[in-house]
Amino acid sequence: MARGTDGRRCRDPQHVMLAPGAWIGILGGGQLGRMLAMAAAELGFRIHIYAPEPDQPAFSVAERHTIAAYDDIAQLEVFARSVAVVTIEFENVPALALEQLARFTLVRPSATALATAQDRILEKTMARSVGVDTPAFAEVTAETLQSAVQRVGTPSVLKTRRFGYDGKGQAKIRQPADAVAAFDSLKQQPCILEAFISFEREVSVVASRGVDGSFTAFDVIENEHQNHILATSTVPARIPDHLADEAIEATRRIGDALAYTGVFAVEYFVTGAGKLLFNEVAPRVHNSGHWTIEGAESSQFHQHIRAVAGWPAGSTQRRAPRVVMTNLIGDDVLSVPDIVASKGKSLHLYGKAEARAGRKMGHVTQLFRDADQP
Ligand code: AMP
Repeated sequence: MARGTDGRRCRDPQHVMLAPGAWIGILGGGQLGRMLAMAAAELGFRIHIYAPEPDQPAFSVAERHTIAAYDDIAQLEVFARSVAVVTIEFENVPALALEQLARFTLVRPSATALATAQDRILEKTMARSVGVDTPAFAEVTAETLQSAVQRVGTPSVLKTRRFGYDGKGQAKIRQPADAVAAFDSLKQQPCILEAFISFEREVSVVASRGVDGSFTAFDVIENEHQNHILATSTVPARIPDHLADEAIEATRRIGDALAYTGVFAVEYFVTGAGKLLFNEVAPRVHNSGHWTIEGAESSQFHQHIRAVAGWPAGSTQRRAPRVVMTNLIGDDVLSVPDIVASKGKSLHLYGKAEARAGRKMGHVTQLFRDADQP
């Protein structure tokens, strides 16, 4: 029999349902951790954040925080022993840290799920293994660069296998002669070469999977990027119903393949021919799901806390015919006085002091009563 930090005995620690008042640990202290901590507080949980950097956005809304490295074994153990379950808000946490934490407490999602989602080759191979199409791709090392270019063709996109985000760690290859320079620009790290997809739109599915494998998803979201950074997310995505159903079913299969617990997001390209192609999976709550705070009955943050606490999922029902979330990036925060002065715009600021270019400072959500309202 195991005893949780909420003091209740249970037969199967994997299926323990945390009682309100239990402690939840979050690795990472950014805005996703901040919004998770706020949702957790609403559900009566207490939050302990673990992050390597000082002054993190989540610290000001969490009861406890620890500043320590992700490979500090002693601090990880102290942290694990202080909480009933640990989760993540940041996907570049070393999977080894999760393995270490799992020796002392529940960890959701698992180190194995995280390790797959961190590696662009592993995640695309997993997607294909459950019948979800991806762009053509090939593994790239110094030895295989030329054969990969021959196989995948051009134009294509070279990406580092790990640690890429917001377009960082990527280089476009327009013709085979560009390949060496592109690989050098990524410091010859292990890479993936992907066929360049001239997509019609980008969509994502934000879903939640419970400890019992139950699956719920929000409506398919349409995403627009500027300078490789998410600018707006709109629901519902302007795609036919059968494609929306296909995206949700593909996401369910991916969650099952990862034996995932918690909220995760899957990004897809929709081609002009109406084909859905897997791009990547984010093993965490996702920027494209921020609209759910006002726009759905249970937000992605509540869904994640519910799932990692072993609770049933809430309702993903949308609250308006159309919902639009706009990110406030860098100097966009200068428009905050106008946003505050206008009606119908829900403002979220992440408490970051400095508005550097490309930095996500906050977001705004609008609910529209008419699906076609501009
Ligand atoms: P990623 O980090 O893989 O999500 O890539 C960031 C953005 O780059 C995506 O949201 C797309 O806009 C673009 N992109 C990534 N991969 C491809 C691809 N294979 N073809 C065309 N555009 C891509």
